[in-house]
Order: sequence, then structure tokens, then C-alpha cells
Amino acid sequence: MPAKPLLDRLDAEAEAFSRDLTREYYLNGAGLKEDLSIVPIFERHTRLFTKKMIAALDAAPHDDERWPPLRAFVVEGYLENAAKSLSETIAARETSDAATWDGKEAPYRALPVLIANEADADRRHAIDGLRIEMTAAQNPLREERWDALHAEARALGYADYVALCGDVGRLALDDLAAPLEAFLWDGEATYRSRLRRYLGDIGVAPAAADRSDLAYLFRSPQFDSRFPPERLLPSLRETLAALDIDLDQQAGVRLDVEARPQKSPRAFCAAIVVPSEIMLVINPHGGQDDYAALFHEAGHTEHFAHADPSLPFAARGLGDNSVTEAFAFAMEHLMYDADWLRQRLDWRDAADFVAFKRFYKLFIVRRYAAKLLYELELHRSDDPRSKSKRYADLLTTFLGVRFNPADHLFDVDDGFYCARYLRAWAFEAQLRRHLETDFGKQWFLSAEAGARLKRLWSMGQRRPVEELARETGYAGLDFGPLFDELRT
Ligand SMILES: [Zn+2]
Repeated sequence: MPAKPLLDRLDAEAEAFSRDLTREYYLNGAGLKEDLSIVPIFERHTRLFTKKMIAALDAAPHDDERWPPLRAFVVEGYLENAAKSLSETIAARETSDAATWDGKEAPYRALPVLIANEADADRRHAIDGLRIEMTAAQNPLREERWDALHAEARALGYADYVALCGDVGRLALDDLAAPLEAFLWDGEATYRSRLRRYLGDIGVAPAAADRSDLAYLFRSPQFDSRFPPERLLPSLRETLAALDIDLDQQAGVRLDVEARPQKSPRAFCAAIVVPSEIMLVINPHGGQDDYAALFHEAGHTEHFAHADPSLPFAARGLGDNSVTEAFAFAMEHLMYDADWLRQRLDWRDAADFVAFKRFYKLFIVRRYAAKLLYELELHRSDDPRSKSKRYADLLTTFLGVRFNPADHLFDVDDGFYCARYLRAWAFEAQLRRHLETDFGKQWFLSAEAGARLKRLWSMGQRRPVEELARETGYAGLDFGPLFDELRT
């Protein structure tokens, strides 16, 4: 079969599949449909995710710009499909498992919320103990799933899962790990001293601290009253208006603000058709998490809503997810800005909050950097079971609180998504520095900065963050600006 028709056909079918799948996730997440039925959608598109399709793509010329993202889509879908029944079994266990706490049934998936809201350290550690026990009991399923995915990677001709992800996702994983590992070691003393101070604020001695204490620390309810639910949407509308974007006039954006009992408590963006049907779903409760989620998801929404509709789907809806994550982080980052907090939330002395958010960012970047180092080892090893202690050692060393070996497979996303986030944070810091240089510290009040963003957004995800960094005046993707920010 000639190459063009194959890619034409695949581009169209990938779009149809993605539209159906995203619509299903939207309906379920918005509380409009009780069940989530993914299997029939995969069944309608079975020929997409086969070895035959991978072979057809490999035989086609690789010089068409749609080839790399479409091949990634097919290979990732093939792996997802191969692990589908185990993924479903694991999800079912996570949904049905429950512990007893305070004489009441506490579902497994509700435990993180209980932990983050438990002010008493002993009780917090006890709930986390229950979570770890259940996680450990589920782990044989996760081990089986990773065995299967690792075997599939080798069957596709790769040395291991790391090689597959690096090739298919165009991620130079080892090159990425080197500066991050150096940053972890160099920044150790600064991080530890801030950690000690913040743990002191919640009355926890560093030597006794574990992961659950950080969940409580970062929940930080003392700031919630500064983020009232009634200012949530107006603050977004005003922020976008300053960038010359009228949220209510955007043809492709649909705001879903209606309250429904089954609606996801967390804001999300569902890019059903890019750029003409982008759902921004919110369920306002107030608090800083609500704002962080809304602004993050609004970043995804604006990015996809401004994509050039004449681009192939491979460039509008597939490609490097670090691109959309970087735009999402850039919007979320407004909460780190004292001027923005004053303008939109009338908060005149936000210095403590800004310092706290900066510590959180330092933590989360360190956490993902440590995860990347761990996942490189996990996915190169023949036996995922053997890496649990290594997981706990690496995370405990670099984050300064105890991590449990039983989380060594739960705390892993498919396809090195941790690398997508890390690249996104690097580019986001470069992008913000670029906007500040051209439009001033308060770039978010400039219609011209909005125009600059719209031009970048119009490219969809056609170009990876390395190329967008060059587009904005850098030699390439560079962690320098991010590390500079985190050090101060
Ligand atoms: Zn995101």
C-alpha cells in the first residue's frame, strides 16, 4: 500500500478514535454518564493497534511529519491494548479495596484524601500504613502487568522498555537524566533546610517524616480562604481578557460549570475535537488546589483551542505532550506571582504563600527527577520485583522523607510520562523568561504577550519542546532557567 494513503487513513482514524475515547472520558468525568465503557471504542478500532499496523508503518517512508506521532500513537495503543485486561483488573481492585478506619469503611482510593487532611501525625501514619498494606497486596497484578509490557517491548525488537519509549516518544532519556541527577545532588542542602523548616511548622521531626507528612504539608488548608470559589471563574476570565482572549466568545471552548452529583471534584480539560470542541469542566469548591487545577486545565484548553485547524491530526492532537503540559504549567504558575495574586484575588501580602509554592515546586521537580532515575533502572531490569528497595532508597535520599518500597510500581506512569513533565517544566521556565524579557515581569497583562502565545499555540504539538525553545530564542531545551528559579 502506498505511504500517503496509509498515513492519510491512519491520521483520520486516529482522530476518530481519540474523539470517541475523549468524549467517553468527558461524559464520565462530567457526571453525565455513570459507566466508562472504553472496550467498545477499542473494539471499533481494533486494526489500529496491531503488529500488522506497526509493520505497515515501519515499511512506509519515515520522512512525512505525521509518521513519528502516528507511530507513537499506534505503538503506545498496541501496548495499552496488550495490557488492557490487567489494567482493568488493577483498576477494579483499586476501586473495590477498602480498609476500616475509625469504625467506618474507607475505600482505597479515598485514603490519600484522608491522609492529606489528617492533622495528627500518628493517625496520618496509621492511615498510610493501611494504604501501603493494600498496595502491597495488589502488587502481584502490577508486577504481572509490567512483565507483560517489558516482554512486548522486547518482542517489538527493542532491547528493553526504556529503548522503546526513547525511540517511539523521541525522548533522549539518558541525556535528560544527567543534568537532573546533578541538580538533585547540588541542591540537596538548600532543599533539606527548607524541608526542615516546613516540617517544623507542622510539628514533625525530619527523622520521623514520611511521604504522608508531605501530603499533609502541601494540602496547607490555612491558605484556602484566600481562594474563594466565587472568584475562581472570574479570575480566569479576567486573566484571559488581559491576554486578549474572551473566554465566553471562544467558539471551540465549552465551559461546563453545572453542578452534578457524579461530577469529578477536580477540574479537567477534554480536547474532544481539536480545536473545535474543547471542554473545560469545573466543579468549584474553592481552595488553592481548585485554582491550581483550573488554571492548569485552562492552559491545556487555550493551547488546543488555538491550534490551526488545517494541521493534520498528528500535529494538532498527537505529538509531544510536554508542549501542552508546558502551557498548562505556565497558566498554573500565575499562582506563584505576587502581582497576579494582588490583582485577581486582592491579596496584598502573599509572600509566605509564594515562598511556600516555590518550595512545593522544588519538591515536585526533585520528585519527578528521582522518579526518572528510578524508572530508568526499573524498566531496564529483568525483574520489576527486585527494584522495590531501590525505589525507596532513591526517593528517600532525594526527598528527605521516608518512601515505602511497596509503592515502587504504584508510583509509575506508563511511557515515562515523568520525562514529559520534566521537559515541560524546563520549557515553561524558558517560555516565561522569554515573555518577561519581551513584555515585562507582568507579561500576563499584555495583549501582545497573548498574541505571542497564540502564535505558539497555533502550532498544536507539531514541534517538540526542543524546537519551541529554539523558536523562542534559545539554543535548545535548557534546564538552566528552571534550576535558577528553584535555587532562589
Ligand atoms: Zn496537564
